[in-house]
Amino acid sequence: DLLYFFPFRYEDFSRVALIAELMDGENVTIKGKIEVLGNKRSWKKGKMITEALVSDSSGSVRVVWFNQPYIAKVLKPGDEIYLSGKVKSDMLGPQFASPAYEKSNRDETTHTARLVPIYPATEGLSQKQIRFLVSQVLPLAEKITEWLPEEFLEKNDLVPLPASLKGIHFPVDEIDLKKSTERLKFGELFLLQLKAELTRREKMAVVAPALSFKEKEIQEFVKKLPFTLTKTQKVATWDILRDIKKTVPMNRLLSGDVGSGKTVVAAISMLDAVLNGYQAVLMAPTEILAKQHYDSLCKLYEGSDVKVGLLTRSQALNFQFSISNLQSISNDSVNKRKKSLIKEIKDGQVQIVVGTHALLSEKVEMKNLGLVVVDEQHRFGVEQRKMIKNKGKGAHFLSMTATPIPRSLALMIYGDLEVSTINEMPPGRKPIITRLVESHNRQKAYDFIRAQIKQGRQAFVICPLISNPATCNAQCDNGQDDTGCTLRVTRYASTVSDEKKAVLSEYEKLSKTIFPDLRVGFLHGKLKPTEKEKIMDNFSTKGGKNHVTDILVSTSVVEVGVDIPNASVMMIEGAEKFGLAQLHQFRGRVGRSSNQSYCLLFSDSLSKKAEERLKFFEKTLDGFKLAEKDLSMRGPGQVYGTLQSGLMNLRLAKLTDTDIIKKARETAKTIVADLNNFPSILRKIKEWEGNVHLE
Ligand code: ADP
Ligand code: MG
Repeated sequence: DLLYFFPFRYEDFSRVALIAELMDGENVTIKGKIEVLGNKRSWKKGKMITEALVSDSSGSVRVVWFNQPYIAKVLKPGDEIYLSGKVKSDMLGPQFASPAYEKSNRDETTHTARLVPIYPATEGLSQKQIRFLVSQVLPLAEKITEWLPEEFLEKNDLVPLPASLKGIHFPVDEIDLKKSTERLKFGELFLLQLKAELTRREKMAVVAPALSFKEKEIQEFVKKLPFTLTKTQKVATWDILRDIKKTVPMNRLLSGDVGSGKTVVAAISMLDAVLNGYQAVLMAPTEILAKQHYDSLCKLYEGSDVKVGLLTRSQALNFQFSISNLQSISNDSVNKRKKSLIKEIKDGQVQIVVGTHALLSEKVEMKNLGLVVVDEQHRFGVEQRKMIKNKGKGAHFLSMTATPIPRSLALMIYGDLEVSTINEMPPGRKPIITRLVESHNRQKAYDFIRAQIKQGRQAFVICPLISNPATCNAQCDNGQDDTGCTLRVTRYASTVSDEKKAVLSEYEKLSKTIFPDLRVGFLHGKLKPTEKEKIMDNFSTKGGKNHVTDILVSTSVVEVGVDIPNASVMMIEGAEKFGLAQLHQFRGRVGRSSNQSYCLLFSDSLSKKAEERLKFFEKTLDGFKLAEKDLSMRGPGQVYGTLQSGLMNLRLAKLTDTDIIKKARETAKTIVADLNNFPSILRKIKEWEGNVHLE
């Protein structure tokens, strides 16, 4: 693990200069002898200062270290040492303040007089310690077996793996570093490309049902919709209908900003599958969203004989139950209903099954699955995606996301995945007005929310993520900017029960003190599914019914998909803790009708960077631009990377490494047909597959 724990940058102290040549401000190394060295207590602030005078043949230089009195034990007058650091000159000549030091009697230096590696560190673990540990295990690099065949190394001008591991930690020079990095990046990208190619071949080998375009029925359905499809909705639908006519399984990503109307495109595609006598599955990442999709589809297919079912861990509804008589069934046992629903699915009576991934683990058998749709696909974990893929073998596959994926990234991670994009909003939508509200204006914001509710609208209040500052600081050392770090760490440090606490206290405050006259509700992940359902139902205005709740205080469980067109205010507490893409998802919960909608951001502790980010969010409504900003501030690893979605397993390689990507792809293509002749690669890809999944 240490060998694969790579530095994220290097300090160049490779130039060893004579003391007489030192220039103010340069990063440099000298080699000299300690003349005097001693500790003293500073009269200012009581700091301990270690002072030394070091000389070489050309002159001498003053050195100070602060609060490291042990240095006086490690170094003694007469020692020959290297010092690396930044030179500061004053009237008395050059000086080093807190330079790295190292005795010069060893063959090779670790901390000075070289390209010095800087590692992602954590509290209580210094660069020096990490470097020492890495240098201890470095000889083991020799024992790591190269898994790329000799001929590939030669052809692509790559250094062998052991050498590259040495070179990435302690490069001899810039060239060594470049070559080592290139070899390691190539390894990553080669596996990625090989996997993409294997997936593509697997896919080609499977035969899917040819679902013909039922023109008459589809046109009738579209005509009966309560709205006219936008141009790009039509194009996307057309893309899909054309794909599913073929026996090669479709693998298409439908990307469209929050609120652009992806659901109806899925509804049309699923209808076509049903009209062809096949079943379809619509998978959502949360029960709330699954229920909402079920309600919307029931409404959309009203009057037709398409039969929709809903199956999640705690819900089982079939087509006989529409939203209007939901109450009447709540006493029925879920298990009993589940059983009969599963049977109806198996018999093919239920043609469209909406559910969460629980649907996969239930003993659900489809009669003849033709199309699988996955909504908010980036929210599913690696394992879940694998299961969806397996379950849907032989079916056409459509995934939907509001996270815009740049073309280059899509190609790299998905191989030949096709992408359709809805790049416009339904007509009549007003741009959402976004404001970062300063704390002294809080009351004004509350008054504003009240006024909106008096006009019949509704509001969401999102509670902040709870983070653990100790973890956060530790991670910030990572060389990441604070925003990326905050997001990543809070994702891990904040627990569901922390969030529950935050929601309850915010609910107390709003319902008792701020809005005692309004109907306030709350929602968090710890509630029972039936409770959640009830809460969402109270907040919902679907099917033209009146809402029972004016304000919904919630955790990020409402982040994706939730569609309450009557809501016009999204208020977000602790906005600085969320990533831009996430904020954009929240904002997308409002502005879903012709009502003017508002997004109000609150933050108690704004760093300069966070403020810049939120200001950018204020003036940017385009999800794609926000994703790009996120990308540039946090890097693809953070935005699309391993931690959140398990898409890639890249430690070093970047999207911009186009030359290496190209080489890796070409090499992968040459061997994909007879992989069995490359046992070491086969082993490697198995090992690697454990961590990554592509679709
Ligand atoms: P998303 O792309 O975020 O999943 P939805 O599919 O939930 O968006 O659609 C958002 C809202 O817009 C829904 O209430 C839907 O009924 C409505 N809608 C979809 N398409 C249109 C359209 N062409 N014109 C008007 N409203 C539309
Ligand atoms: Mg959606």
